Amino acid sequence: MVVLGIESTAHTASVGVVDEGARVVALASSMYRPERGGIHPREAANHHVDVLPELVRRVLEEGRVAPSEIDAVAFAQGPGLGPCLRAGATVARLLALAWRRPLVPVNHCVAHVEIARILSGLEDPILLYASGGNTQVIAHARGRYRVLGETLDVGIGNFLDKLWIEFGGTFPGGPALEREALEGTELHPLPYSVHGMDVAFSGMMTAALALHAKGVPRPDLAYSVEVTAYAMLTEITERALAHLRGHGVVLGGGVACNERLRGMVRAMVEGRGGAMFAPPRSLCVDNGAMIAWTGLLAHRSGVSVPVAGSAVEPRQRTDLVPTPWRPTPRQGPHPSLDAPVGAVS
Ligand code: AMP
Ligand code: MG
Repeated sequence: MVVLGIESTAHTASVGVVDEGARVVALASSMYRPERGGIHPREAANHHVDVLPELVRRVLEEGRVAPSEIDAVAFAQGPGLGPCLRAGATVARLLALAWRRPLVPVNHCVAHVEIARILSGLEDPILLYASGGNTQVIAHARGRYRVLGETLDVGIGNFLDKLWIEFGGTFPGGPALEREALEGTELHPLPYSVHGMDVAFSGMMTAALALHAKGVPRPDLAYSVEVTAYAMLTEITERALAHLRGHGVVLGGGVACNERLRGMVRAMVEGRGGAMFAPPRSLCVDNGAMIAWTGLLAHRSGVSVPVAGSAVEPRQRTDLVPTPWRPTPRQGPHPSLDAPVGAVS
């Protein structure tokens, strides 16, 4: 079985082709980069409309696959920016109709977990999903993925991007801050906001900007922000691991490219006798291969939607999406995870 997947939830338009063995047959991506400021949804969507036909052509050519060899077309249905999602969904519908193939909707967050899960070989890992718009700790229980903890304000990546732009830089800020932080030597205390299983970044933003205004060197600020923010993420991941008696953690999302975050989470997990896995960067960031792979799992379990019922869902919740390819419920008592679907956020 070979599935083509389309990702277009935010700044990245991407098309991937994946086979039954989770081999990435071909992957082509294009990221929308605003000249200044953050992402404008309509402009990002226009970018996706412009590049998607060429990305489709490229994966078919580079992967040497004919449309007749594609068994299904998967697309990211949500969560994401409405105009961006619609751009990808429109192309997916068109291909499904033209090639007479089933159309398979995929949840973007679930796709990050599934690609990391198959590549890691870990059967039931906890995912720390740290991206631009999302910051969540996700685990599977009772037939669905559950969000155990998340940001109460902005996503970690958006926070890093905004901070870097305030420092006078351009999007994306995460990689630039990572380089800057390597030069930092002095750790300045910043608000450490962990609320149970949740985190928040706006206090740290205010404090970092105030220190910047006072003349604290940018490398020291970048270093302090990284250490503090990633310690918060490591703490909630550790709590999930302890609560679920888990043994594995996988990383996903663009911020999971960060070496300091990888190192901190690895030290925590290995210190508990578990295993940590981070996918290669091309599969950590938003990509069509993870949509294709999750679409393949879903399609194999009989999931597809008619074009008329394939509306995008910008606010689609991870825990409202059935995962029929993972029917086995987690063993042992987990009272907080036994609540009705939707009641656990
Ligand atoms: P995503 O939304 O998953 O595609 O990831 C994009 C986000 O990842 C942006 O906010 C980037 O600033 C951030 N990002 C990418 N690379 C790094 C890095 N090395 N360190 C920290 N953040 C990063
Ligand atoms: Mg993502």
